Amino acid sequence: MTWIMLIFVIIAIVFVGRLIRSEDQKSQLAQLHQHTELRADAFNMRISSDAERVSQLMSGLHRNDVLDSDISELRTRARSLMASRSEILEIFFLKYDGTVLGSFASPTPLGDLSVDKGQKYDRLETTLAIQRSHRNDSVSFSEPYALPLEGSPFVDLVIPYRWNHDEIIVAARISLWMLLRETTKGLDSNQFRISLLHNDLPIVSATTDSKRKTITYQVPLHPLPQGVNLQVSSYAHGLITQNVLFWVISALGIFLVLTLVGLIRFNIRQNHIETALRAETALRKAMADSQLSGLRVTDMNGRIVYANQTFCRMLKYDSSADLIGQMPPYSYWPTGDVSYRLKELSDALIQGRLASTTYEFSPVCADGSRFYALLHVTPLRDTEGKQLGWLGSLTDISEIQQAQEKLTAAHERFTRVLESMQSAISVVDQHTNTLLFSNTSYDTHFGENNEGHLMINRALNGQDASQGMFVDVYVEEADQWYAVQEKIITWTDRSAVRLQIALDITERRRNEMLLAEQQARSEQNSRLVTMGEMASSLAHELNQPLAAISNYSFIVKSLMKKVGVPTEHEMFHSVERIDAQAERAAGIIRRIRSFTKRSDPNMELNSVDHLVDEVLELARLQARRHNAKLEHFIAPDVKEVWCDAIMIEQVLLNLIKNGIEASVLPGQTSSVTMTIYRDAQQNVVFEVADNGSGIADEDKERLFDPFFTTKSSGMGMGLNICRTIVELHHGRLTISDNIKKGTIFTLTLPTKEFVQR
Ligand code: ADP
Repeated sequence: MTWIMLIFVIIAIVFVGRLIRSEDQKSQLAQLHQHTELRADAFNMRISSDAERVSQLMSGLHRNDVLDSDISELRTRARSLMASRSEILEIFFLKYDGTVLGSFASPTPLGDLSVDKGQKYDRLETTLAIQRSHRNDSVSFSEPYALPLEGSPFVDLVIPYRWNHDEIIVAARISLWMLLRETTKGLDSNQFRISLLHNDLPIVSATTDSKRKTITYQVPLHPLPQGVNLQVSSYAHGLITQNVLFWVISALGIFLVLTLVGLIRFNIRQNHIETALRAETALRKAMADSQLSGLRVTDMNGRIVYANQTFCRMLKYDSSADLIGQMPPYSYWPTGDVSYRLKELSDALIQGRLASTTYEFSPVCADGSRFYALLHVTPLRDTEGKQLGWLGSLTDISEIQQAQEKLTAAHERFTRVLESMQSAISVVDQHTNTLLFSNTSYDTHFGENNEGHLMINRALNGQDASQGMFVDVYVEEADQWYAVQEKIITWTDRSAVRLQIALDITERRRNEMLLAEQQARSEQNSRLVTMGEMASSLAHELNQPLAAISNYSFIVKSLMKKVGVPTEHEMFHSVERIDAQAERAAGIIRRIRSFTKRSDPNMELNSVDHLVDEVLELARLQARRHNAKLEHFIAPDVKEVWCDAIMIEQVLLNLIKNGIEASVLPGQTSSVTMTIYRDAQQNVVFEVADNGSGIADEDKERLFDPFFTTKSSGMGMGLNICRTIVELHHGRLTISDNIKKGTIFTLTLPTKEFVQR
């Protein structure tokens, strides 16, 4: 609309401008006509007056005065006339045939004599004028002419004068330039240019030319011959410089245009502002509506004036219109005590007793459901700080509440577990040693202070109890044993604290010690039993050397009796035999003694051959008793084994004894084979294989349990002791079935390097 108005105003201005211009041109033209007519009249009057004055020169003069050259009077008159009429430059008298009778120049600076007395004046233009004047017997003017050397044109005024029959011509040379100047004095040369045209050609101009655009008008000058016109040109003045109306209208127009442009710009700016405002309002609304908290604004009286979508959604209202306008108590307030409390808070805010408040409550939704909410109310102020009301922000804390409840329950469970644990659990600050946590077990054990924790920590004496394994510690101060774990953990305040778990194992330790003692005793017993079992074989075994000794002694005695003095050689041989047999018997007894004597493991490198000999020496007693076959194979690369020889001998002897006992079956010869070799890891392996009854799978698991036996007279401790010994050697004792029949016990002993590593 404004744009259309602007276009309309511009068109109107152009139209008015054109109108003014045409009117102006018309008035200029009229003015020009008027000026031209006036100047032409003045010109005509002047030139007519010149003619009049020239014709009066002769009045009162006689013929002779002129023709006889008594012209002093005439000269005086002529000069006087020319002095007053500057355009008349020369006055001369001619005979009808053109002979110059006399001539007078103007006394003015421009005055000049063009003809002398006695000459013939034969200018064509003048001659024609003379003829014309003669014919008409009246004043006549020549056509304009120019003198050589002079630019400006002249006309000659010709007047016939007659005395009876003598006729002369009085002529005057008139400068058209001077005449024009005289008649156009006072004319504004800035506006007008005046000139004379002869046959439409400019011959003289009173004012200088200008390149400016002109309008012209010309009128004929009647006293002069036809074809001589006066032309006035008016410099067309610009609308801009002269027309006040134009200026006023232009100024108004410009003002109007500027106003309209201003209006348009204002409109555009207004539009921009409005668009920005709308966008911002939309953004604010979107922000308010997409808030996770419900927002509600109340005025200074507590009336709800705004509620965002979240607020309505939380309370299950379809639209904010259902809430806007409500005064406390609001429809979502629960009834009863809570409502009373909420009203109190609301009143306190309205009356200014409270600046802001935050409270938890359980609002009633539009559909009657409830949830846990937190309402935070703060004053709402405008940009100048004036309070407009309150902004309430509603947060659904049901989940937080539930999470809190769960957390409390979890904490309770955790505490209960900790409390019900037998271990004393305590946490102390690593730097200040302040007791930060202790469970009931700890408190009953050590009291509610850090002493117990520190006591156990001291007793650890630098042992690392943080590797997830319990370290058994004897606490001297309390004469108690504890299995302890300690760990540096990050406490709730991010500080480093020490967690200690201590289980009182005093009782267990004591039992273990008792058990160990018992086991040692039963080991002893077992050996004694083994020996007991071997006793008869032993008696038989010892019988042999003793019988041999007896025999050799008898031989020595017989030799001594029979021969008297036996030869030294014979004696020596028998005594040597006696000695050897006695040594053998002593060896048997020594081995039995060392076998039954308990001692701590004595690890050393032992010759395998020797060790096997020692075992077989004793095993053979058993084998012989049961008529069993005993074989052994030693791989050539097995020379030495790292072990306590007595202990390993005991193991092997026990395995061989078990093998013999298991394979004594009707209808077969019991056979036990011991094979010794090195495995890929250079371990020394002793395999004891029998052709006995084999072992049921379910029994294999229990063989090593103490007191497991299938024999009526068995103790069930043999294999249990064997395993203890093997573990002491970091070795393995495994069972497998023999290919056809029977069982293989495999004892694997690591190398010295492995054990010491
Ligand atoms: P004991 O010989 O006193 O019974 P052991 O601990 O030496 O005690 O052996 C436990 C049990 O293992 C034996 O009673 C026997 O049943 C079984 N056993 C041991 N060695 C063999 C074997 N080579 N073949 C079959 N059974 C065996």
